[in-house]
Amino acid sequence: MIDAQTQVVGLLGWPLEHSLSPLMHNAAFKALNLNWRYLPLPVRPGQERDAVRGLAALGLRGANVTIPHKQAVLPALDSLSQTAGELRAVNTLIVDYEGAGGPRIHGENTDHSGFLRALLAGGFQAGNGQRAVVAGAGGAARAVVYSLLSLGLEEVVVLNRSLAHAQTLVTEIGGLRPWKTRLEALPFTTGALLETSRRADLLVNTTPVGTWPETEASIWPGREALPANLFVFDLVYNPIETRLLQQARRSKARAINGVEMLVQQGALAFEMWCGMAAPLGVMRAACKRALRR
Ligand code: NAP
Repeated sequence: MIDAQTQVVGLLGWPLEHSLSPLMHNAAFKALNLNWRYLPLPVRPGQERDAVRGLAALGLRGANVTIPHKQAVLPALDSLSQTAGELRAVNTLIVDYEGAGGPRIHGENTDHSGFLRALLAGGFQAGNGQRAVVAGAGGAARAVVYSLLSLGLEEVVVLNRSLAHAQTLVTEIGGLRPWKTRLEALPFTTGALLETSRRADLLVNTTPVGTWPETEASIWPGREALPANLFVFDLVYNPIETRLLQQARRSKARAINGVEMLVQQGALAFEMWCGMAAPLGVMRAACKRALRR
């Protein structure tokens, strides 16, 4: 029942047609019998500041932020986590009503920590001497590369269709700190993908290649096997089992699907809002049910 005690969070983005977050979070609230609701909150570009300050005026507990507002909301926030500040992007807002000076809005980036949790839960053991290949150089790739640098891998190679975008990512994320990782940008070609993956431990697809309805597409060439020692993490979550992940399994490589990152970043946001452990199994099942429909 919705009443005066109902706590509200939501999702700021534009457009919001295909998001799984309302479904995932409302399933979690229901499973834990919490009087909370998660609403889609479509915000037109240009309205980011009003929308963010409006969260506090309306008594919301927080929000997720998605495309295209992850950077645009930054000037409206009172504080940022170190990661969100370094990545210059937030995907989670927490409204704090406790302080004397009125509500304060804090920004976090759980894409980064969600990726890391999913990677480590999938069995990847970060250690010295490991190498990763990241396909794509957009917003998700920034969080992924930042995560891999924070794990202290030996080498991360970013392959992208537009070399200039990969170079910008490498310069910006690589320049944040004196990381110990060797970081390199290369043009995305099949040859470069095969060559760099052959000496890598991890391949992460951060491009949308393989997303429904283009489910036959894959960044990996059709007839080539993937190296069996490789971990393959596909950020695409619709379909759950992409062509790339099918190729990985067929080659006996280990596969991690994008639903795990989606669920882990959602769980982190849930924990920040509600102050309790998120029901991961409920959230995962809600996403998978919706994706199988
Ligand atoms: P984005 O900022 O638009 O970046 C997309 C990247 O993919 C760019 O580097 C782009 O290259 C490259 N790309 C696009 N189409 C391509 C193609 N046909 N062939 C080769 N490269 C191509 O998008 P994003 O926000 O990073 O998101 C990327 C993907 O990750 C989406 O599928 C999104 O749903 C998924 N994602 C999943 C999660 C999760 O929780 N599982 C979280 C975040 C994102 P150019 O630079 O040359 O344009």
